[in-house]
Amino acid sequence: MKTAVYHNNHDVRVEDYPIPEPGRGEILVQTRASGVCVADTMEWYLSPRAPLTLGHEAAGVVVKVGPETGKIQVGDRVSVHHHVPCLICEHCRRGNYTMCETFKKTHIRPGGFSEFFLASALHVERDTLVLPENVSFEVGTLVEPLACVIHAIRKANVQPGDSVVLVGTGTMGLMFIQALKYWGVRKLIVYEILEWRQKKACEFGAPIVLTPYQDPEDEVKRVREILGTHGADKVIVAAKDLRAMEMGVRLANKGGTVLFFATPHPQESIPLFPSYIFFNEITITSSYSANHLDTRTALDLLANGAVTGEALISHRYPIEQLSEAILQTASRQGSLKCVITFA
Ligand SMILES: [Zn+2]
Ligand SMILES: [Zn+2]
Repeated sequence: MKTAVYHNNHDVRVEDYPIPEPGRGEILVQTRASGVCVADTMEWYLSPRAPLTLGHEAAGVVVKVGPETGKIQVGDRVSVHHHVPCLICEHCRRGNYTMCETFKKTHIRPGGFSEFFLASALHVERDTLVLPENVSFEVGTLVEPLACVIHAIRKANVQPGDSVVLVGTGTMGLMFIQALKYWGVRKLIVYEILEWRQKKACEFGAPIVLTPYQDPEDEVKRVREILGTHGADKVIVAAKDLRAMEMGVRLANKGGTVLFFATPHPQESIPLFPSYIFFNEITITSSYSANHLDTRTALDLLANGAVTGEALISHRYPIEQLSEAILQTASRQGSLKCVITFA
């Protein structure tokens, strides 16, 4: 079978791998579509560990099952989440499933950028979801990224009636817009620098889309005027730009929450003003990945149309062009979600 092996963003080689055999509780999935994630473009994170077989947003058809795979059967159309928690460690017991060691160690093998992949017994038992008829394989690849959005909304404790500021409208940002509206937010202000993305944000239902002012003080004034309060109840920064993060902290309401969703380089930092945080009771938090509860909600939102999956997929590539798909994703020029499709 064809499997893509990543060395760096410009060097991805398609190699011939043996088709794996499912053991007890395991399933073999024929990949039909696999999403390219921004995480697949972070060379500083990936290259030191290369060669790697990537692809963690995969959907396909079950073609072989090992003994004792429960309800999953040959022919099922599935989305398999790449990480699954143990459910019993100290992190899982506190509900922090994405911090679980088992979660980080579990992977589909060799990965979603491969003609076939194996899902372990834990994957099959905990986070293999059968796609409803009206969810295509391509849309099925959005279960994982949308689940990350849901995870963030839950971690920020977004409530119906909240005012929310969202910074950044990449593919994740566009999913945030739709999911936040589904969550019943009262007011939503979206920030974006790129003009074509601003248009997309409007298309996806953002009521107010702004280009940030140069001076953050002006921005604070503007948001206070629009919201009629001290700031937004929840601020979600879905951009790895440090200025966006700094601005995000300033735009939160008293008692508000700021959630960092994107990953800057580990050496980068922003100034923090503890006194401001203290007097305004600002909560600063973050969210990493998504758990088996988030994926189920994500699939519901894709199936009931609250999030319009088809409109989020802009580019399709064969596995041989994975490097092009990665570079397109990294360029932020005119693309939403890029997916690798398999005949
Ligand atoms: Zn991803
Ligand atoms: Zn655990």
